[in-house]
Amino acid sequence: MTKQETEEILFIKLCKGLVEICDRINRGEPAYLVNDYQPFPQPLHEAFEKLSIKWILRDGKIRHPSILNMVQAARESIEAVDPEFCQWVDFPDEPLIEDMTKPSEECEDYAIEYSLSLEIDNNQSYIPRLMEEIQKNDLPYSTYTEFRRFIAENPFPSELDKALLIDEHPEIERVKDLLEEAYQDVPLQSNDKQLCKKCGGYLDCAAREIEGCCESLEDKVDKAPLPDTVRCLIRPSLIELRLEKKIKEMGLEVELWPELDKADLKVTFPDGKSWAVDAKDWVNATKLARELNEDGIPEIGQCQSFFVVPDYRLKKLQNQAILKSKYQGNIPVISESELIKRIKKELK
Ligand SMILES: [Zn+2]
Repeated sequence: MTKQETEEILFIKLCKGLVEICDRINRGEPAYLVNDYQPFPQPLHEAFEKLSIKWILRDGKIRHPSILNMVQAARESIEAVDPEFCQWVDFPDEPLIEDMTKPSEECEDYAIEYSLSLEIDNNQSYIPRLMEEIQKNDLPYSTYTEFRRFIAENPFPSELDKALLIDEHPEIERVKDLLEEAYQDVPLQSNDKQLCKKCGGYLDCAAREIEGCCESLEDKVDKAPLPDTVRCLIRPSLIELRLEKKIKEMGLEVELWPELDKADLKVTFPDGKSWAVDAKDWVNATKLARELNEDGIPEIGQCQSFFVVPDYRLKKLQNQAILKSKYQGNIPVISESELIKRIKKELK
């Protein structure tokens, strides 16, 4: 592993740990459990151990003598925790925890990476296990699409919703247990900690600037999505579902997450030609550029590939400038409305 990778994993663990601390506070629980053998979230604990060693080796002294001091430093600026972390973010002067309990958007972007890369490697998340089940049992690839779509469209499913899903797609029965893993008992709600009807996360906690969010949940519900389901599955799917709807309305054939997620959308034109689209709804342009530099879109029969970013993200001038200076790939990075425009042009 290169030094950069080790360093990045450390930063990802730190962000994940900080997000979990904020989740605890938002659920009305104490930030750390005094009598527990593991008082702090595991990723934060691991990050702290590595950072302590790093500080001693580098400075000859411990900069922050406890995890609590490190959490405090995260409330000041990214630089205050460790200057080397500045390379991962757009705004190093800003804190990783805003207003005492809100993870910053950049912190959340990196925390998602924990579930997407680190946990997937360890096979902890239900998504890779779902893919495995589908392959092992020769279930149709559409099982994956229907599973994901259901969660993205039903943050608070009732027993009836789930029964109807299985009725319509009987193959889901085989992966029903995995579907249950996406949800938890409804977390505590109060006047200032309400859940969002659309994405299932806390209203005030980082559903900011996501199109179509946030409206508070008023109905009584049986289950709610896990925080990781909200961040890694539901919120990123909103742009994909939105694009699917628009493209279908144009009379085109569109497939979501084709061939077990090789792309986000495959659009097929009347002449049989197809485009592959990967949608990325990320705040952090530094991370987006780096990821896109390494990312391609696998071959699924497309003649053109695109990375698509929501209009409201690309519109931010600063994001655009950072992305422009750091992205070196060949696949065009365009906005949602630009994609629709190009499809219309192609249809003429
Ligand atoms: Zn929301």
